[in-house]
Amino acid sequence: MVVRMRSTRSHTGNRRSHHALKAPNLAVCKNCGAFYRPHHMCLACGFYKGRIVIDMKARQEARDARIQAKQAMRRAQAAEEQAENQAPAGVETSAETTDTSQTPEQK
Ligand SMILES: [Zn+2]
Repeated sequence: MVVRMRSTRSHTGNRRSHHALKAPNLAVCKNCGAFYRPHHMCLACGFYKGRIVIDMKARQEARDARIQAKQAMRRAQAAEEQAENQAPAGVETSAETTDTSQTPEQK
């Protein structure tokens, strides 16, 4: 069987000769010295055209505070659950009985 429209190795190579990726052109931020894409805001500090467009530092701090608050909440929840698990057996059984009584009603 002959493949009529088969592309030769050289044909494939010629086509793929344009597939190489170019390294992006990066400029150095005048404010913080980080690399940024030209005609774009510096992602490290939010500097563009001689002024700070977005206060990235404040943003990052706000984000960190948010994350820390969330982690603290999770830790508190975990501690609460542990305290519930370590509670005396009498409390647990009463909770279980209430649970079992609720489930048939729901079904
Ligand atoms: Zn910068």
